[in-house]
Amino acid sequence: PLTPQPDPQAGAAVKAADRAHVFHSWSAQGLIDPLAVAGAEGAYFWDYDGNRYLDFTSGLVYTNIGYQHPKVVAAIQEQAGKLATFAPAFAVDVRSEAARLIAERTPGDLDKVFFTNGGAEAVENAIRMARLHTGRTKVLSAYRSYHGATSTAINLTGDPRRWASDTASSGVVHFWGPFAYRSPFYAADEAQECERALAHLEDTIAFEGPGTIAAIILETVPGTAGIMVPPPGYLAGVRELCDRHGIVFVLDEVMAGFGRTGAWFAADHFGVVPDLLTFAKGVNSGYVPLGGVAISGEIAATFDKRPYPGGLTYSGHPLACAAAVATIEAMEEEKVVEQAARLGEHVLGPGLRELAERHPSVGEVRGLGAFWALDLVRDRETREPLVPYNAAGEANAPMAAFAAACKKNGLWPFVNMNRTHAVPACNITEAEAKEGLAALDAALSVADEHTTG
Ligand code: PLP
Repeated sequence: PLTPQPDPQAGAAVKAADRAHVFHSWSAQGLIDPLAVAGAEGAYFWDYDGNRYLDFTSGLVYTNIGYQHPKVVAAIQEQAGKLATFAPAFAVDVRSEAARLIAERTPGDLDKVFFTNGGAEAVENAIRMARLHTGRTKVLSAYRSYHGATSTAINLTGDPRRWASDTASSGVVHFWGPFAYRSPFYAADEAQECERALAHLEDTIAFEGPGTIAAIILETVPGTAGIMVPPPGYLAGVRELCDRHGIVFVLDEVMAGFGRTGAWFAADHFGVVPDLLTFAKGVNSGYVPLGGVAISGEIAATFDKRPYPGGLTYSGHPLACAAAVATIEAMEEEKVVEQAARLGEHVLGPGLRELAERHPSVGEVRGLGAFWALDLVRDRETREPLVPYNAAGEANAPMAAFAAACKKNGLWPFVNMNRTHAVPACNITEAEAKEGLAALDAALSVADEHTTG
């Protein structure tokens, strides 16, 4: 990567303009101090003060092939010169090609693609399709999930971000998914967790009334809420419950899809095919906003003679689709999916587990591919989180100290409550991953100081 040229004055000007006019997501505007970014390439970005960071967040877990991939940048430039935009009701070559490449990679018969501008809109439309297809209204969604910040998506979301904007009339019912390390079912092991989680879901369906439930939505591997790989058999069990009751099964792969887990889709690891699959982020590494819903033949047929009542001005935007075509082609050419799988098996997985052996602050390591979480604890025995589990908005000194130590060591960390996620670009080299592990090692020594066990 480029060596950043320091220019603190330019950085100060960028930051001042930001503070004057940009209203930031999820933030108290007067309490934040966003870093001014001067540039990015591959797995790194840098500021105006000459600091370079290895990005272990992939932005918001979306730059699956890293920053400024030359093939994708060129494809966007070329498309801009040829046909920068065209409305969704027309057949446009690059849109058709993106849909074909996506449909060929999604599991089973998810062969039609409805394009959106991002993940939340994909979720909104998946739920609308499920409700129209079934004629039912209720939707079951898991606690410890994130599905986006628009109205339906935030109501589906099962984490503290939902609390401020939840509405009573959403039609959403939450249930507990499996999470062996912090088991809601007091299970002794993964097999028991799976069995009890399925029994709980079956009970929830029975008490809500199967005939009232349009859809069950799950993240295949819940991401933002903690990268909790489901136990073997769980997703197949949910599929069976959906089939038994005529419920649409929606898998949200906005974060887990497009190589993140070392497969094109996380569902591939479990041999499960949903009726609807939502995607965004990695589909084009986020170079131009794009998301969508991959739709089964049966649900698509519902709208063969009956209009689908939904659409977006920029649905299937040519620049976004050109970026998707180039991204998917680059992922094939450079074997990025295989690289993510290898990283997980041989570098990140073993490397993080080795850190857990030496650092008492690491309670659990979980994940796969380029998708890992460290659950940080005060005490390994009690598993007491390094911060209160529902610490949204509370001061979080130990995690702040951990994050500061990462940055001091050249690593930009993902921190959420008591967790840090190792979610770099899927195509980082082994040397880059090891550089990240070394920075985490140093920062975990700081977290260790806050343990009591
Ligand atoms: N669904 C999942 C699983 C996500 O992780 C996210 C974002 O992180 C979303 C939906 C929302 O996507 P977007 O922020 O593009 O609306």
